[in-house]
Amino acid sequence: MRKASYWCLGLTVALGVVTTRAITAAQGPSDRAIAALAQDNGNGNAYGKIRCGTRDLDEATARAADDYARAMFAQVGGSRAAGEAPIPVYWHVINNGTGTAGDIPDSQINAQIAVLNAAYANANAGYSFALAGVTRTTNAAWYTATNGTTAERNMKNALRQGSADDLNIYSNNMGGGLLGWATFPSSYASSPKMDGVAILFSSVPGGTTVPYNEGDTATHEVGHWLGLYHTFQGGCSNSGDLVSDTAAERSPAYGCPVNRDSCAGKKFPGADPITNFMDYTDDVCMDTFTSGQVSRIDAQWTTYRNGK
Ligand SMILES: [Zn+2]
Repeated sequence: MRKASYWCLGLTVALGVVTTRAITAAQGPSDRAIAALAQDNGNGNAYGKIRCGTRDLDEATARAADDYARAMFAQVGGSRAAGEAPIPVYWHVINNGTGTAGDIPDSQINAQIAVLNAAYANANAGYSFALAGVTRTTNAAWYTATNGTTAERNMKNALRQGSADDLNIYSNNMGGGLLGWATFPSSYASSPKMDGVAILFSSVPGGTTVPYNEGDTATHEVGHWLGLYHTFQGGCSNSGDLVSDTAAERSPAYGCPVNRDSCAGKKFPGADPITNFMDYTDDVCMDTFTSGQVSRIDAQWTTYRNGK
């Protein structure tokens, strides 16, 4: 049972943190700001797709959630072990009519779960996923829902299942050039119904959104759901994404720009982490979580999700 003092501290952190809806434009880039960044950063996203609408936290908020999770984890431990029960996945297919493109088949859902499992098994972290249920809903408003909208709230209030350690995935046709968005673990306490991951339906394996159709949009968004930030968060600053073994990166990388090194100088060793799942590169380019990211996931999982 959690002690009251833990809960109060947790609530304090959570209120300052993440819910997509509580973050103002001043605190984190909006979807459109991210779109503008994609155009401005000189790396050209030629595909007209914005990898992620998850809103970055400002540094102080991100650090507060991180410090709290690491402190809790230091007290209680609890890394997942290989072979531990997989995380249940409730998949909500939002479509614009039964049998239409967004009504993706079970075979693609199963293929996506397999991609998730391969990605996280690669990280040797003990995190795996098992499909627990599929719902199918025809709803025009939810079909094009994006983060922070009334449609998102209505969709999630109607469909979300389980508790903090159950993964809810919504697939729809979100528009705005977006591929997906997610909520962070620290926001669960204040907004449990909003917790989860949304992905563009055609980003699943075999989907039509080339070159984002091998399932790594879900891998990336689940990374946020497990507590990871973008590798380019913080740009060329010392704190960066609060993970020590991902090299600093000034802005998102698109395509697969090998040897890109956007933070120069002795202070920032190493080329950009373009193969990391938490960058914006093409699916075929990304295949890495670092051990620093895994330890961050462990702290966040233990503090905010496991058994909550
Ligand atoms: Zn993201």
